[in-house]
Amino acid sequence: AKEHGRNTYCFFEATMTTGAAERLHMENALRGAIARNELFIHYQPQIKLANEVLVGVEALLRWNNPEFGQISPAVFIPIAEEIGLIRSIGAWVLEQGCIQLAAWDAAGFIVPRIAINLSVQQIESTDLVEQVKAVLQQTKIAPDRLELEVTESMLMRHVEQAIENLYALRDLGITLAIDDFGSGYSSLRYLKQLPIHRLKIDRAFIEHLSENNNDGAIVRAIIALGQSLGLYVLAEGVETQPQADFLRAQGCHEVQGYLFGRPMSANDLMNRR
Ligand code: C2E
Ligand code: CA
Ligand code: CA
Ligand code: CA
Repeated sequence: AKEHGRNTYCFFEATMTTGAAERLHMENALRGAIARNELFIHYQPQIKLANEVLVGVEALLRWNNPEFGQISPAVFIPIAEEIGLIRSIGAWVLEQGCIQLAAWDAAGFIVPRIAINLSVQQIESTDLVEQVKAVLQQTKIAPDRLELEVTESMLMRHVEQAIENLYALRDLGITLAIDDFGSGYSSLRYLKQLPIHRLKIDRAFIEHLSENNNDGAIVRAIIALGQSLGLYVLAEGVETQPQADFLRAQGCHEVQGYLFGRPMSANDLMNRR
């Protein structure tokens, strides 16, 4: 967590021209963001390539602050992690996401699955499993409609509580996805040891995808790896038809990206097309 914090700090320093005072200011604004209703969630479609049907959505957190404007989650999530806010923010996203899924159900719009991003402090928390159970009970969402996304680096920390949580979540019937697959320090061993259901191929490999370059070879290999281990594979950041065609030809199951829909409000998702 400390290491992550340091990287985060560097990232922030590099991108903000103002200094520590503004950073402190943003921290304080973030502390009150939930209470002031400044947080909301956008939902990005996940599409099955075989028939181009909506199979799920990923919940992506947004923060709109009167003073700072729209702040990217790539900026404020690391701050929330550093100042110990991510567990309450993460709990809020989990609850709101499941409430939204139930609301779509009630409106006759069925979104089969919702994927929620977890932070390292959540996956290593002793009350994650109870929290998830409580939200599912409260919203009456079937466990197999909830997917939780974790990154390789979270798994590589080898924290016992995290491993325990993964199995307990699997036992609840929840599915688990590895986010940004291929971009971290991956150990292939954990893929067969841990109860993982899906690999999400990092957008970086999709961006310059072509049949005859290295990214094409890597993507082909990841799909083959998933197939031989019995994992589903979803490609992130699909923006063009040739990318989608390549992925379909290689047997990639699902995609997510601007070609099929940007992250959007719950209403826009329901009313799209
Ligand atoms: P991520 O989990 O890898 O999410 C995918 C990111 O790629 C999102 O950025 C999404 O808007 C963007 N994206 C999707 N399709 C395309 C595409 O076709 N082209 C391009 N260029 N980008 C695409 P976003 O929404 O800015 O989120 C950034 C990161 O913030 C997420 O990366 C995730 O790590 C984090 N994040 C967002 N919401 C949450 C949350 O509720 N909890 C936690 N812990 N992290 C979150
Ligand atoms: Ca994600
Ligand atoms: Ca990702
Ligand atoms: Ca990412």
